[in-house]
Amino acid sequence: MADIIQLLPDSVANQIAAGEVVQRPASVVKELVENAIDAGATDIHITIVDAGRTLIQIVDNGKGMSETDARMALERHATSKIRTAKDIFAIRSMGFRGEALASIVAVAHVELKTKRKEDEIGTHIIIKGSEVESQEPISFQTGTLFQVKNLFYNIPARRKFLRTNETELKYILAEIYHAALGHPHIAFTVYKDRDLHAKYPATHLKQRIITIFGKRFEKSLLSIESESSICKIHGFIGTPDTAKKHNFNQYLFVNNRFFKQRSFQNAVIRAYGNLILPQEYPPFFIFIEVDPAHIDVNIHPTKTEIKFVDEYSINSIIESAVKYSLGKSNIVPSLDFTDDTDYNDMFSTPQSEIKAPSIRVNTNYNPFASHKADVKNWEQLFEDFENQPDPDIPEQTFASALHLESSEPHVPEATCLQIQKKYIVTQGKTGLLLIDIKRAHSRILFEQFLQQIQTSTHASQKTLLPIQIEVTHSECVILKQILPELQSLGFDIEEFGSQSFVIQGCPSSLETTHVESIIRDFIYDFNENHTNITEKMYESVAKSMAKTSALYRNVHMQQDEMQVFISQLFQCESHSLSADGKVAVVLLEYDEIFKKFN
Ligand code: ADP
Ligand code: MG
Repeated sequence: MADIIQLLPDSVANQIAAGEVVQRPASVVKELVENAIDAGATDIHITIVDAGRTLIQIVDNGKGMSETDARMALERHATSKIRTAKDIFAIRSMGFRGEALASIVAVAHVELKTKRKEDEIGTHIIIKGSEVESQEPISFQTGTLFQVKNLFYNIPARRKFLRTNETELKYILAEIYHAALGHPHIAFTVYKDRDLHAKYPATHLKQRIITIFGKRFEKSLLSIESESSICKIHGFIGTPDTAKKHNFNQYLFVNNRFFKQRSFQNAVIRAYGNLILPQEYPPFFIFIEVDPAHIDVNIHPTKTEIKFVDEYSINSIIESAVKYSLGKSNIVPSLDFTDDTDYNDMFSTPQSEIKAPSIRVNTNYNPFASHKADVKNWEQLFEDFENQPDPDIPEQTFASALHLESSEPHVPEATCLQIQKKYIVTQGKTGLLLIDIKRAHSRILFEQFLQQIQTSTHASQKTLLPIQIEVTHSECVILKQILPELQSLGFDIEEFGSQSFVIQGCPSSLETTHVESIIRDFIYDFNENHTNITEKMYESVAKSMAKTSALYRNVHMQQDEMQVFISQLFQCESHSLSADGKVAVVLLEYDEIFKKFN
């Protein structure tokens, strides 16, 4: 019997490979834009017609190709980016496999125009299904133009599996965002169906983020930075109030290449701690630079996961850098990075043990310990104050409103100044602290309440009248699931007919008038995120209590009252933010003050 094994013709091999590399129009955009970036372009124009089905055109002003290279570039395993296997471990370019162009020309009609700076005349190649139809000299500007037409014209099954134009366009734009965020110094112009869709002028990272995602980021980005022998990190994170219920705005880059890594995302979230709710995601744009030998980008052409040799350490470094930035941006003295942990030196030797910088919190501190007030009736703490018709009367001091005593925890003897009765100014370790009294107070109350609720037994109170809630079928399933937990928290809630429940009591710390909406929130959150109901309740109760009882401005405070107040604030875990995540403390660094007089 004759031998039966044959080598596949190139065109067939390329088509098979194309199935891996070119999955949808967005893959073409990604590969061509990456090639333009690798070619040193500073200006890239992208045209998308019919969500990439009809035309994808990329024009760059990069270094272009010689006549021979232009032809070679379209071959499989043709690359200018590596020569030996060793080079794979030093990759700084976006591409290196040399299979993108070969794959694209196997599944589309492609036209290429290119010229190098040193050449008078350029090259024009037309190619269909891997077959070169024509190659001619052409007069062209320095750079390269790729037109990819009728994608998957020869693979009807693939074409049929494309999603709606809207969805395919979303994939394309996601690729463009990755490239544009990863390379802010490159200008991008995007045309959609021949209309100008977006223009990103060359700029720096922060401005690029704002251009892409909107002005809402203008005041809410905190920069992060860290340098060690393992990696360099820079980028921006959002202030806690920008956290959202989705994680669309979380971007990680390694050596300017976009990638996804669950463990790094979690490290960022850990760093925010309870500055954000459990089901919220803060936006971030984090750039990691590592020795290319310490990552493996060679997993799969279209996959965005990347293996890191030092994954564990980088994880801790990210967490520390984010914590540091959150602390520093709001207030530095809270974060003790200099005494026992030298932040910059922390990772200076690869063997060194990774320690996250510690935030100094007195965990044994019980805010109620020195108060005479009955802890079960915390509201009484504020009754006196809230019943005051005019909070401005001098006799009504802050201390008496709060039942503070002179034996409160020790406070630094720094002089405090109350300005406009709204703010306190005092000296910190590295600068002047400006404290918004009302916001800071809401933070103190929030953390006190949180601790209070978490440690107390869940006393129940009767609602005035039974409250009946009607739910949909699916809500009913969820509510039944969380019923035991709700009951243990102090909700007196029972099924009442089909798709209906009746509530006759709720935790004593809750406003009975809000019970129905709170239960609906729980159902929603549990459905969306499988939130821990108990935690969620603690947080939301504490937050609403803190907000409703927070001290109004315009109360005159005595020197010792201010000191006690500050001391209490600094016992809080997140003392620089109000209960609802707004800035409560601003640090004016001595350095800045010094500079102002120079
Ligand atoms: P890779 O990017 O992995 O090297 P590609 O198939 O994407 O493989 O490209 C093959 C080669 O073609 C590249 O190595 C590069 O030399 C050349 N090339 C591709 N696109 C461009 C471009 N826009 N400008 C200049 N050279 C390019
Ligand atoms: Mg490439």
